[in-house]
Amino acid sequence: MPRTVALLLASMTLFSADLAREGVRWWSHVQVLADDKMEGRNTGSEGHRKAAQFVSTEFERAGLKPAGTSGYIQPVEFAVRKLDEPASSLAIVRKGRVTPLVLGDDASFSLRADLAPDVDAPAVFVGFGLVVPEKGIDDLAGLDLKGKIAVFLTGGPSSIPSALKAHYSSAAERWKAMQKAGAIGLASIPNPRSMDIPWERARLARLNPMMSLADESASESRGEQFAINVNPARAEKLFAGSGHTFAEILKLADADQKLPRFPLGLNFRAHVKIDRSRVESQNVAGLRPGEDPALKNEYVIFSAHLDHLGMGEPINGDRIYNGAMDDASGVASLIEIATLMKEANAHLKRSVLFLAVTGEEKGEQGSLYFATHPTVPKSAIVADINMDMFLPLFPLKYLEVQGLAESTLGDDIRAVCAKAGVQVQADKEPDKNRFIRSDQYSFIKQGVPALAFKFGWIPGSPEEKTFQDWIKNRYHAPSDDLSQPVDKTAAAQFNRILLDLGERVANAKDRPHWKPDSFFRRFASE
Ligand SMILES: [Zn+2]
Repeated sequence: MPRTVALLLASMTLFSADLAREGVRWWSHVQVLADDKMEGRNTGSEGHRKAAQFVSTEFERAGLKPAGTSGYIQPVEFAVRKLDEPASSLAIVRKGRVTPLVLGDDASFSLRADLAPDVDAPAVFVGFGLVVPEKGIDDLAGLDLKGKIAVFLTGGPSSIPSALKAHYSSAAERWKAMQKAGAIGLASIPNPRSMDIPWERARLARLNPMMSLADESASESRGEQFAINVNPARAEKLFAGSGHTFAEILKLADADQKLPRFPLGLNFRAHVKIDRSRVESQNVAGLRPGEDPALKNEYVIFSAHLDHLGMGEPINGDRIYNGAMDDASGVASLIEIATLMKEANAHLKRSVLFLAVTGEEKGEQGSLYFATHPTVPKSAIVADINMDMFLPLFPLKYLEVQGLAESTLGDDIRAVCAKAGVQVQADKEPDKNRFIRSDQYSFIKQGVPALAFKFGWIPGSPEEKTFQDWIKNRYHAPSDDLSQPVDKTAAAQFNRILLDLGERVANAKDRPHWKPDSFFRRFASE
């Protein structure tokens, strides 16, 4: 064998011993964060506070400077809403006949918005309910929605590029369009084909307290008086007598056909009792200062979310939602990447900010707060590299990158992966909207280029089955805990790749920028 190959193999063997060691160290952080003692790290809980303390200590050990507003901590105030379900009710009223809906079985209130105590309003089916000016799509046009409730099926036609669809399907954009059309609320019917969490499990989460930033100026749901999620298996009763069936709607959607839009001929009548309180939670920020006289005033952010779902309805007797992969794994990677930089005595031109955020599970609230109240100048944030549930469940042969084609960061991750012998994949399930479903989106909305990641797989492979089974059985369930099989060495390899990416971006001459044809570029020019 050629000498260079022999040398390369020798260094790879050495390197794999390092990787094994680093994988164990990474896992040791996951073990602390996902321990039952942390009680699932719910936003605002004592468990979350303890976890934030642990991260502060580890950031300090990794040589990071405090970059919160109180040491490493940036406190975040939340308004809390908890549904008093026995004191609440929901019904459909058709021609004076009242049919009660069973909360949790037929439908659930969504407390993402601060709902009005009493609503009685007509319902209109608005198809996908999407307004996408770039594609000339307006599912609300020509409908009388004034004072009414817009009922929609999730998803959208395949003619809308995934980034556009992802953006306009977000809760904030949807509500903006519906409110503009005069609606006072919405009812979402998930397409069963694209539901990550089966209704049976989602229904358990409906009584968890919902939180939004106490600073109302950032609220994206102002004016939303009514919001429910409808069980698709029970949705047929909304369509009875409308001249359409839900089965027909689903069939059209699945065949990528245009959906009809029509009044449902019924009113939703809701009485909602909400217990309101306030709570404080924590973002944790640590800084590795850059060394270039000019570029050190720019910041590359590594982010991951510290919060998970806390304690909730038991599944198989377990009521602690540990969130080992979601997202103790990402926070452990923050600590690990900072530690690797320290061990290598890395000299970087730009500064690197390590950020563990709260409130992700409440709708990316902690990152929204940081991105709108950053502890460094907002215009000096050049990139967000977010790690949320990257799922190291098998060897790292493929890395799926969300946002790959959107900015020059995509070129950077390609270069880094090529060096590591890992193949890059674009988002394989763009309809799941993952690029806008974690904390990177809070930065993207401020104009900052970003990436997010999953361990990749080839469709039809055993790895795909492992991934899909995980989503089905462990995602947002108490079984996302420390007793699941995880490939620690592969996680270490992922950390190394992200470390390389961070260093490449920190040392580049130019800051990253959106590609000229990227949809997300618009936020940068605003
Ligand atoms: Zn989650």
